[in-house]
Amino acid sequence: MAPDQAIASPFPASEDFTALSSRAVAIAGGFGQDVVMTKMHAMVVPQAGGKFRLEERDIPQPGPQEVRIRVQACGVCHSDTAIVEGHMPGLTYPRVPGHEVIGVIEALGAEVHGWKPGERVGVGWFSGACGYCGHCRRGDNFACENVSGATGITRDGGYATHMLALASALAHVPDSLDSVESAPLLCAGITTFNAIRNSGAMPGDVVAIHGVGGLGHLGIQFAARQGFRTVAINRGRDKEALSLSLGAHYYIDSAAGDPAAALQALGGAKAIIATVTNAAAMQSIAGGLGTNGTMMVIGVVGALTVDSLDLLRKRAAVKGWYSGTAADSEDTLSFSREYGVTSMNEIFPLEEAQAAYDRMKSGKARFRVVLKVGT
Ligand SMILES: [Zn+2]
Ligand SMILES: [Zn+2]
Repeated sequence: MAPDQAIASPFPASEDFTALSSRAVAIAGGFGQDVVMTKMHAMVVPQAGGKFRLEERDIPQPGPQEVRIRVQACGVCHSDTAIVEGHMPGLTYPRVPGHEVIGVIEALGAEVHGWKPGERVGVGWFSGACGYCGHCRRGDNFACENVSGATGITRDGGYATHMLALASALAHVPDSLDSVESAPLLCAGITTFNAIRNSGAMPGDVVAIHGVGGLGHLGIQFAARQGFRTVAINRGRDKEALSLSLGAHYYIDSAAGDPAAALQALGGAKAIIATVTNAAAMQSIAGGLGTNGTMMVIGVVGALTVDSLDLLRKRAAVKGWYSGTAADSEDTLSFSREYGVTSMNEIFPLEEAQAAYDRMKSGKARFRVVLKVGT
């Protein structure tokens, strides 16, 4: 297929994105036949602190080592606040957010090997890697010296009908996984899955998931299915039954007492997966680490205070963890399919990205918010 051609799926008559899709394309053929699409739609952040704006754009041609993806679904993540609210230095606008993307390859640029149009792919934070720099050659592709930045932050992401991605950023998506249901696995999923499996804990060890939210509800499922004694920790009791139903073996109400002492009563945690976004809450749990335990920090809280004496006498560690590479995404998706790990989602159409984002920001979503984009 030539790069400027595309296959458009029939538009579902009853779907809420029908209007958007019909505005987004110029139909050269008949319904259900090959058509040439010329326009795409994106929900754009015009400037830091601005409201989302629907923009019609020319469908871009993929450059060298890039593919064009027809987006099917994109998760709305708390980390999108970085671009929407301008929390990072050096950001440029307008920008299309979105780093939990599942879609179908529609066109290949030059120098793309191993991928073909029609394949379903996922894209997360990881925006690709060169493969030849010092970090890549040592297996640390996430820190590539030549491809930096992140999907939806430094390059346009998945709040759109189409997007470009480097082929090195692509993950295969197993056939049996639904695109809309699985999109959050590309960020909330991979981040917890990968932090747990890189924590040093072994099957049978105590692994605590701190925070039962968008990340935590997946972390509980991953930890339990990876063979750990899984402890869910959250404020109050309202998420206790859910945590246990997701696979947690124990539940600690962090508001009812000292959660670190409660973890010590279970023998101390070999790993704490800290998903919360509050520094005081995160600090209150570090004392629950056991001998050689590691707290994997995946929630962003700014400065964090830990007791150095407590760490050294236990040989314990506090470690940050980057979500992962395309290969890690693929492992996350495969594991989720094999072991039935699923994200609990609230679904919005693409053109309601503002409402979806506001819902995510409210903290009331159970648990992830996903934009349904196309077929
Ligand atoms: Zn995310
Ligand atoms: Zn590199």
